[in-house]
Amino acid sequence: MAPPRLSLRDITKRYPGITANDHISMEVAPGEVLAVLGENGAGKSTLMKIIYGATRPDEGEVSFDGRPLVVDSPAQARALGIAMVHQHFALFDTLTAAENVQLGLTESMSVAEISEKVRELGERYGLEVDPAAVVMELSMGERQRIEIIRALMTKPKLLILDEPTSVLTPQAVRKLFKTLHQLANEGVSILFISHKLDEIRELADRCVVLRAGKIVASVNPKTESEDSLARLMIGKEP
Ligand code: ATP
Repeated sequence: MAPPRLSLRDITKRYPGITANDHISMEVAPGEVLAVLGENGAGKSTLMKIIYGATRPDEGEVSFDGRPLVVDSPAQARALGIAMVHQHFALFDTLTAAENVQLGLTESMSVAEISEKVRELGERYGLEVDPAAVVMELSMGERQRIEIIRALMTKPKLLILDEPTSVLTPQAVRKLFKTLHQLANEGVSILFISHKLDEIRELADRCVVLRAGKIVASVNPKTESEDSLARLMIGKEP
């Protein structure tokens, strides 16, 4: 049997006065769409940071495609196939879409080559954006598409998204979900943070619920009501 794409064993991360992640164990399968649900401060961002190399756990092990994963930076994680799309886009407003994609690359590619790639990925995954457009003239949906294209340039096997719909119109959300489903069908594992219960029910194959640093549930959100997900998240009646 193929190993899980990502496996976490007893991940613990402490900050002064708080255990942000408390012995977290979970797995993500190839092509699985996994939502991480939790209230503010539950430990979601800390967990993502550990996975994409922005911080190290105090205890526990991470493995990726069956091999131990020890990464000290997001660049190292990216090189191994783990890409992150942040909630607040890390784009330069006065540069074009293609120039922004170029800045995220370690290999050298001309703007013309990148523009071609941006068009190709755009057509293939419904991520249309004009490579020559200046970022400040683009909608939030288009800006996010640049971020996703930038992430896809390194052919990730795991794509992490932090609250990916928070700045999108309903139409852009529909489009994003189609893209994410297509990537998952091609075997890319998708891990996303959210507290939008309706969207989790629509997008995710599975949902792990974090409360005060601990995983309190791992459920199929499609068979749970929004009320029941809310109860799991806050630990009492909504
Ligand atoms: P949110 O939805 O608000 O982003 P979250 O579920 O992502 O919340 P984390 O950001 O992981 O939660 O934070 C978990 C806990 O760890 C919080 O109490 C937070 O204040 C604390 N924490 C996170 N990062 C640090 C840090 N660098 N230094 C100190 N405490 C931190």
